[in-house]
Amino acid sequence: MGIYARQNIVFARGEGSWLIAENGDRYLDFGSGVAVNALGHAHPRLVAALQAQAEKLWHTSNLYRVEGQETVAEKLTRLTFAERVFFCNSGAEACEGAIKIARRYHYVSGRPERLRIITFRGAFHGRTLTTLAAAGNERYLEGYGPEAEGFDHLDFDDFDGIEGAITPETAAIMLEPIQGEGGVRVFSAEQLQAVRELCDRHGLLLVLDEVQTGVGRTGKLFAHEWAGIVPDVMAIAKGFGGGFPTAAVLATAEAAKGMTPGTHGSTFGGNPLAMAVASTVLDVVSEPGFLEDVRAKALHMKQGLEGLKDQHAEVVEDIRGVGLLMGLKLRSHVLPSQVTKAAADERLLVVGAGDNTVRVLPPLNASDKEITQAVQALSRALTRVALEMP
Ligand code: PLP
Repeated sequence: MGIYARQNIVFARGEGSWLIAENGDRYLDFGSGVAVNALGHAHPRLVAALQAQAEKLWHTSNLYRVEGQETVAEKLTRLTFAERVFFCNSGAEACEGAIKIARRYHYVSGRPERLRIITFRGAFHGRTLTTLAAAGNERYLEGYGPEAEGFDHLDFDDFDGIEGAITPETAAIMLEPIQGEGGVRVFSAEQLQAVRELCDRHGLLLVLDEVQTGVGRTGKLFAHEWAGIVPDVMAIAKGFGGGFPTAAVLATAEAAKGMTPGTHGSTFGGNPLAMAVASTVLDVVSEPGFLEDVRAKALHMKQGLEGLKDQHAEVVEDIRGVGLLMGLKLRSHVLPSQVTKAAADERLLVVGAGDNTVRVLPPLNASDKEITQAVQALSRALTRVALEMP
């Protein structure tokens, strides 16, 4: 179906931070399949894990215990606030699951009227009907019939409006610590702490969508750690599978208390192939020194991007983001697609986003040399864009 405005490039294979097109052209992949290939392409440990599992067992369904799920759940609960984990297959499904868990929590607590969720405009939680309603982006909802009920939207800048939006029907506050698709818009540590405090005071669940920010992307295993808070429920996907489609919802035991046999499910969720890869991703990302390295690389990249802002002030308005989730906010007369196209002409892949922003999302294990190369390619691309300007 014609739903993607694709660039006319076909990639034949990947090696680390590089994608090699059918015609042999080598591209530096600083889009990582939209924050998915956290360890780059064809990481030897991920390949080995997938191959070994492929020879043993692919699928059994959730009618039986799945060893890989128990292993990954043990790792996730050891590494995070979570005490319960549900496995699914995509970010949207994880966000949908998180919404269901939040409503169900109040339902089994004797407060079934608490089903509304406060969300922020500019968020992206996926393309199912309910996750679209959660984000409330009218462009994505158009033509899809009645909008799922139960979401109260605040503007990103209307953070102070949260308390006023809480009603006796509010179940939860749901947000991305950094809006990725929305243009790398960062909630501050103070804002996240304030929202945690509000949730505690009003008996609400804090639901974080860390589909894009999670699994090391910001230099912490999860972005909320920067604020020193924990959520009650969290959706993860993207980098969690390092390129193998998998996702999860993490929760405290209390928040997940309504999730009893038969209340939710997924045929493919936590499939043995996915679990073999996700388990290895978690091993690599949680190795001593890995996240310190991400933070050092992030600093290097940020310095490079700040330099670009100074050199190309006619194109770039601002640099923002945390860790290796960075955005170039462009001047209003420049389109993200102009920059992504010019970058691709320089054999660099970056990704457009909302709020007139281009995202730079390298693999977490990109080398310093590759980061320098990417900044240089981006500089040439911005020069091209400036030359095209009227
Ligand atoms: N949540 C966030 C923060 C995302 O960035 C995305 C995808 O970009 C999603 C949810 C939806 O994930 P998926 O496309 O895997 O359904």
